[in-house]
Amino acid sequence: MPADYHTHTPLCRHAEGEAEAFMDAALRAGLTEYGISDHAPQIPEPFDDWRMAVAELPEYFEWIERARRHAGGRIPVRAGLECDWLNGCQDWIAELAGRYEWDYLIGSVHYLGDWDFDNPVWLGRWAECDVEAVWKRYWDAYATMADSGLFDILAHPDLVKKFSFVPRGDLDRFYEPVIDAIAGSGSVIEINTAGWHKPCAEAYPAPRFLELACSAGIGLVISSDAHAPGEVGRDFSRAADLAKAAGYRETVLLEKRQRRTERLI
Ligand code: ZN
Ligand code: FE
Ligand code: FE
Ligand code: ZN
Repeated sequence: MPADYHTHTPLCRHAEGEAEAFMDAALRAGLTEYGISDHAPQIPEPFDDWRMAVAELPEYFEWIERARRHAGGRIPVRAGLECDWLNGCQDWIAELAGRYEWDYLIGSVHYLGDWDFDNPVWLGRWAECDVEAVWKRYWDAYATMADSGLFDILAHPDLVKKFSFVPRGDLDRFYEPVIDAIAGSGSVIEINTAGWHKPCAEAYPAPRFLELACSAGIGLVISSDAHAPGEVGRDFSRAADLAKAAGYRETVLLEKRQRRTERLI
């Protein structure tokens, strides 16, 4: 199975499980590599209730060390962060990038202005909004995030579909500009299998987006976005089939922010 680089720790306050249990799950799933990428701290604090605090970064590093000790060379354990793309966040991301010897940084759009639109707590806001306008705003933010060049991996590309609020008509009008931006940035995207377990019941991104990404030469990783040991490597065979159907023949491996590829089997 490919590497799983998008996984969380209890430091984000909405994940559970010990480092050792996550590693045992990674070994059981037969992953080639395991990566830890918890929700990065965000200033000014307090920011929200679903991430570690800046003061908890040392605990996060200790968690990564614990995972490495338990793995004991049986599987490479990579270190990353899932960073939020927010207006004016560039300096903070650059500062975080220097705080540890990261193997990769993941960029995510979870916020449009002050609205963390994927948070079920604010589901009511979806029912009242102009879906077309929200999608436009989301994809503009995603393209700007790609253009920043700050991230190795761009997460869950069409997360905006999570609660199944999707505009009518051909979605290529949203996909095409962002595919150009990602291809130009050199960042890779992920198939995030968590989408299969959300109201949208589809992995992120949609098959059509993946096809366009493959044609544009955009690199790919497969991610579970595990928030518990039982979710590590979840649905990876299904995701590999999806990747192959879109034309992908390899996935990307990351170490110290350098890239290699491995054949998709
Ligand atoms: Zn999370
Ligand atoms: Fe996310
Ligand atoms: Fe995540
Ligand atoms: Zn995520």
